[in-house]
Amino acid sequence: MVIVGAGFAGLYMLQKLRTAGLRCVVIEAGDDVGGTWYWNRYPGARCDVESVHYSYSFSAELDQEWTWTERYAGQPEILRYLQHVADRFDLRRDIQFSTRVASAAFDEGTLRWDVTTKTGDTYNARFCIMATGCLSTINRPDIAGCADFQGPIYHTGNWPHEKVDFTGLRVGIIGTGSSACQAIPLLANEARELIVLQRTPNHCVPAHNHPLPQDYVEHIKSRYPKLRRKWRESEAGSNYPIGNRSALEVTPHELDLTYQYRWDVGGIPFLTAFDDILLDAAANATAANFVTRKIGDIVIDPEAARRLTPTHHPIGAKRICIVTDYYETFNRDNVRLISVRETPIERILPGGIALVGEHIPLDALIFATGFDTMTGSLMAMDIRGRRGTPLREAWADEPATYLGLMVADFPNMFLITGPGSPSVLSVMTMTIEQHVEWIAECIDTLEREGVDVIEASPEAQREWTDHVHAVANQTLYPAANTWYTNANIEGKRRGFNIYVGGYRDYDQHLERVRRERYAGFILTSQRHSEPASQFPERSAAIPN
Ligand code: FAD
Repeated sequence: MVIVGAGFAGLYMLQKLRTAGLRCVVIEAGDDVGGTWYWNRYPGARCDVESVHYSYSFSAELDQEWTWTERYAGQPEILRYLQHVADRFDLRRDIQFSTRVASAAFDEGTLRWDVTTKTGDTYNARFCIMATGCLSTINRPDIAGCADFQGPIYHTGNWPHEKVDFTGLRVGIIGTGSSACQAIPLLANEARELIVLQRTPNHCVPAHNHPLPQDYVEHIKSRYPKLRRKWRESEAGSNYPIGNRSALEVTPHELDLTYQYRWDVGGIPFLTAFDDILLDAAANATAANFVTRKIGDIVIDPEAARRLTPTHHPIGAKRICIVTDYYETFNRDNVRLISVRETPIERILPGGIALVGEHIPLDALIFATGFDTMTGSLMAMDIRGRRGTPLREAWADEPATYLGLMVADFPNMFLITGPGSPSVLSVMTMTIEQHVEWIAECIDTLEREGVDVIEASPEAQREWTDHVHAVANQTLYPAANTWYTNANIEGKRRGFNIYVGGYRDYDQHLERVRRERYAGFILTSQRHSEPASQFPERSAAIPN
């Protein structure tokens, strides 16, 4: 088996397959494990799902021996956790670090994958598992003059390993998404001057991060098995309390009390205060209006408050930012907010940035411009399936998959949290485990039953992709210009390829397909040299 990527997904996939006695190699571009938490080392980087939840559940011993110190762990702590996992399960010996996969090609003669690295090494494998991440290829807009800038340029998604000291410097930051909103308050503490260049303001809700008291940690640890089970059985696959009323059926006073309570608790549960916030525009507006009022209360300068107020998308249709002191930072004298919609960037100069009508001197520049999400890392490789078909061609219209797990015509290639699965709209540690466990069980079944090839049937892929769209179209997500809809990447085709039917619902799909002998997948046994199973019939190779 070749597994590409050594983040949460690749590490667990390796552990799982190796435990089953299979020979695996993980190929990782970075020089250590961690994935997201290896690359995103910007000031303030931390999870926005609570640490006790944003962690593996597969090992009860690991749950007991690891102690999270903060409600939302910072990047260094999450990286230490993943390094601990790698050491504890002795994973490093099967990981090839500092190696980037350039291409992967399926050989129809041998029914095996040839995976080639940038340095020209080739690995030959029966299965190729892409654990390459949804947010792992940075997006850096091509702004004229960038190459002339004389100071350092950083990207939040590829931050240096050593501490960057901005003391006394004039720093510009482009972007106000989740990473920027975490970084800006800390940068403002250090920089002489911080210029925030904002295209689209987003809704921010306080994290109320804090150290975890020992008695709370002990309480969680003592109940971990039960809690993990409960979260897995919940609709959203999380510990978020979900309101069961419409925002439109309560009085204005109740609305206010409910939102204020959620604001005081902090975090993503703000969005689940009522059950129709992401379904109904009028309900959504009640939540957005509450945040708008908060911005007005916190930000002293009315002009800055106006610029910070989101008007371009419904609240939650773009990932809300879970922040500490974000809005308060705009009350500081050394922070200036510029809307590049109102004052566009003309070009970057050797000593700063030219906006329409103004030149701003800068010593350092930070791109907080996010990622080429969902498909960026897959499309960066030259992946070829049957008849040499490039993935880039197969996905020219949209990244269609069956269950987010496989692509028709790309046999024996699995995706972990691929397009068409809940992925970035779920607690990812949980959906990663869900995929890893499903894939491991599938491979084990194929091995036992002598099936050589599994691939998505084109009909099942079409049906699933249509279903993903149909479910999404019942929500407010697809209408907004966000990275969920590819609107952040120039030239990328608009689409919405995240399954928003909920964790439990998706799990039921996975379970049904497994129970029905991998319905929707074509299973082929070389010995019979003909399909062993075709959707929706049952497998001939796998006895009932
Ligand atoms: P990644 O962690 O992205 O790992 C993929 C790995 O594949 C990378 O190390 C990359 O180097 C490697 N790779 C890619 N292409 C190649 C190639 N061609 N050759 C070799 N190696 C390759 N999710 C949540 O659920 N909750 C959160 O609170 C949360 N916070 C986040 C905060 C930030 C700043 C970011 C960026 C993301 C956050 N996420 C969060 C999403 C996060 O990406 C996932 O939770 C999770 O870490 C993904 O793990 P992964 O292993 O699937 O992918």
